[in-house]
Amino acid sequence: MTTIAPSPSIEALAPHFSGELIDRNHPAYDTARLVWNGEIQRRPALIARCRGAADVAAAIRFAREHDLPASVRGGGHAVAGHAVLDDGIVIDLSAMTGTRVDPAERTIRASGGALQSDVDREAQQFGLAATGGFVSHTGIAGLTLGGGIGHLMRKLGLSIDALRECDVVTADGKFVTASADENADLFWGLRGGGGQLRRRHELHLRPAAARADDPRRPDRVAGDPGFDRAGLPARLHRRRSPTSSG
Ligand SMILES: Cc1cc2nc3c(=O)[nH]c(=O)nc-3n(C[C@H](O)[C@H](O)[C@H](O)COP(=O)(O)OP(=O)(O)OC[C@H]3O[C@@H](n4cnc5c(N)ncnc54)[C@H](O)[C@@H]3O)c2cc1C
Repeated sequence: MTTIAPSPSIEALAPHFSGELIDRNHPAYDTARLVWNGEIQRRPALIARCRGAADVAAAIRFAREHDLPASVRGGGHAVAGHAVLDDGIVIDLSAMTGTRVDPAERTIRASGGALQSDVDREAQQFGLAATGGFVSHTGIAGLTLGGGIGHLMRKLGLSIDALRECDVVTADGKFVTASADENADLFWGLRGGGGQLRRRHELHLRPAAARADDPRRPDRVAGDPGFDRAGLPARLHRRRSPTSSG
């Protein structure tokens, strides 16, 4: 017989939390605990779906006070399932997708749960594109902090090369900014540290201008009639075939 550990009382967290608290009795529990890889079937004690940085800090403090192991969920695409854990608290950023472009400064600020598609959609309004992943549904934080390879990398480098600044909630619930000029050691650790170092609630990326005629613009690859797809199916097949020499 499987023994299910009891959820910690969410009453203690609720007054400090503005997002959604999903415990094992919640009707959304069995969908909220899933990640992209369907093989991962973990049963957290609590999923704290944050609405902002204050929720992230409250969830971290709650985890410390109750001695609960914690994971952070962004886009949920880590194949090994790092975003979820058994019997701990999932700090779920998937509702924090706000993305803001500053066209004059040519920067993009993306919240910790933003997907590649959120960044692309906002950037394209201003004729900009940030170097990112190949698909639209990966989380921008997990992707960037792990390196980030995609369509624009040959021209613009990895996603991590475009990262200028992170707003971070530390393990003791403090808000700090990390960049080359501020908390530089932390910034160095974050770059390439994947998701295991700290909880970031906002990233600041440097996009590049996407020329209207540039075939590498993400929207073009997704469906612009100007993109030359004549040989695409054959080329894709070759790339995916393990026995292919092409
Ligand atoms: C279908 C698919 C396509 C992919 N395509 C590409 C690609 O084109 N290019 C590429 O480079 N990679 C690609 N990847 C790999 C993907 O970028 C990584 O798995 C990445 O870690 C996913 O990030 P996520 O936020 O979606 O996942 P999650 O599982 O939510 O997070 C991954 C890790 O980052 C941590 N994390 C996420 N957000 C935050 C945050 N805001 N603060 C702190 N920690 C955080 C998590 O705790 C976890 O440890 C792909 C993966 C899949 C499944």
